[in-house]
Amino acid sequence: VSVEDRESQFGLTVDAVGSVDGQALCRLLHTSLDNLVTALEGHSDTPLTAVDILPEAERHQLLTEWNDTATELPGRSAPEMFQAQVARTPDAVALVYGDVELSYAEVAAKANQLARYLQGLGIGHGSVVGVCLPRGVDLLVALLAVLNTGAAYVPLDPEYPADRLEFMLSDSGAQVIVGRSDGAPGLSSLTGRVVELDDTEVARAVAAERATPLEITFEAGGLAYVIYTSGSTGQPKGVAVSHTGVASLVAAQAERFAVDSASRMLQFASVSFDASVTEVLVALSCGAMLVLADAQELLPGAGLADVVARCQVTHVKLPPAVLAVLAPEDLVSVSTLVSAGEALSADLVERWAPGRRFINVYGPTETTVCATMSTPLAPGDGVGIGAPIVNARVYVLDGSLRPVPVGVAGELYVAGAGLARGYVGRPGLTGERFVACPFGGAGERMYRTGDVVRWSAGGQLEYLGRADDQVKIRGFRI
Ligand code: AMP
Ligand code: MG
Repeated sequence: VSVEDRESQFGLTVDAVGSVDGQALCRLLHTSLDNLVTALEGHSDTPLTAVDILPEAERHQLLTEWNDTATELPGRSAPEMFQAQVARTPDAVALVYGDVELSYAEVAAKANQLARYLQGLGIGHGSVVGVCLPRGVDLLVALLAVLNTGAAYVPLDPEYPADRLEFMLSDSGAQVIVGRSDGAPGLSSLTGRVVELDDTEVARAVAAERATPLEITFEAGGLAYVIYTSGSTGQPKGVAVSHTGVASLVAAQAERFAVDSASRMLQFASVSFDASVTEVLVALSCGAMLVLADAQELLPGAGLADVVARCQVTHVKLPPAVLAVLAPEDLVSVSTLVSAGEALSADLVERWAPGRRFINVYGPTETTVCATMSTPLAPGDGVGIGAPIVNARVYVLDGSLRPVPVGVAGELYVAGAGLARGYVGRPGLTGERFVACPFGGAGERMYRTGDVVRWSAGGQLEYLGRADDQVKIRGFRI
C-alpha cells in the first residue's frame, strides 16, 4: 500500500496479486483508516495492533455466520448410542473378523458381561482402564465394556516398548488393564492389575455375568478415553476426552459419509489413534457392519485390497500417505472414501474423487477427532478442510487473537462441544493450548491447534501448514 499525501487529502494505491478481491480490499482499507482516525482523535494511546481492520459485516460472517453449527442433539454417550442401535437391529451383523461374525445383540452381551466383571473390580465413573490387546473382537468388546462401566479407556498397543506402556499406565492413573497372558512383552512386569481374558478362571467369571445393559448415568463431561500424543518435551501427553463431543461427531460424520445399515466400515486405524473412535462409533450407532482385520492384513502393499474386496467394504477412512500407494482398483467396493490425518494433495483428489464420495476430514485429538470436514470433493476443487462440524466453532486468528480477513493466513483455533478436558496431569500445558475464547460465553475455552489456515470467500478453510515444526511420521505427531 502506498500513501500519497496531497496536503488536505490523501490517496492510497495498492499493488496486489490478481487473485485479490479488490472490493473486499477497499472495505478493509476504509475500515482500518476510519478506525485509525477515530483512535488518533480520541484515544491516542491505543496500540496500533488494536485498530480493527474488519468491517462489521465481515467480522460477523467470520465469527458467527460461518460458525452457525449449533444443533440440539440427544447428548448421548457412546454406550447409550450403541445400546439404542442394539435395540433397533439386534440381529444385524455388527462385527466381522475373518470367519467370525457377531450380531449387535451378541457384541452387546459380551460387552455387558465384561463390564459387569470390571464393575466387580471396582471400576466405574472416574476410573481409567488400560486396554492392551491385539486387533480383533476381544479388543472391540473390551473398549465397549470399559465405556459401559462409566470408566474411560486408555489404549495400550501391545507392540509398544514396555517403558512406554509403563509410562502411559502410571501417567493416566489406570487401575486395571484388560489384556491377555501372551499380551505385551513385559506386560506382566507392569504395575497395576491385569485382567487376562484368556485365563480360564477369568473367562468363566466373565461368562457367568449377566448380559443385560448396566444401569449407568453418563455425565456429559465424564471422561471417555485418554489418548497419548507426542509432547513438545519428548514426553507423551495424555489427551483427556469426555463424552460431550461424541454425539455431535457421530451425527456429523454419519450424515456426511452417508452411513446406514447397509454400510460396511473398515476398522483401519489403530485404537492408539483417535481416528478409530469414529470408525467404531459411527458404524455401531448406524447399524453398519464394522470390518476388523489383523495389522498385517491392513498393510497397503499386502492385504488391504483383499480385505476390502472380500468383505465388500463400502466406507474407508485412510491417511493420504496410504492413499498415495493404493490405486482406485484396490478399493472398488468403496463408495465413501475419507482422507484424514494429514494434508491432502491435489493429485490425490484427482485420482480418488471420481466415482465415489471423497471427503477431507481435519481435526486434532484435542477436539475429539474431527473439527472440520469438506463437502464431497471433485477434481479441481482444491484440498480444503471444509467447515466446522455440528456444534464446533473455528476461528482463524492473528497473534493478538483477532480474526484475520478472508484469504489471509492465520492460526486455527477450535471451540465447541468437542473440546477435550485437557492434558492429564498437566495443568500448565493445558493452560497454554486451551485458552479463554474471546468470542464465546463466560468460561468458554478454545484450543490452539498450531495449524495455519485461511478462509475462502465461500466460507471453506484451506490448510496451509503448521505454525511450529510438528510433523507426522506414520501418524505420530513429532
Ligand atoms: P492428531 O491429533 O494426531 O490427529 O493430529 C492432528 C494434526 O494432524 C492436525 O493438527 C494437523 O496438523 C494434522 N491434520 C489432521 N488432519 C488433517 C487434514 N485433513 N489436513 C491437514 N492436516 C491435518
Ligand atoms: Mg486424529
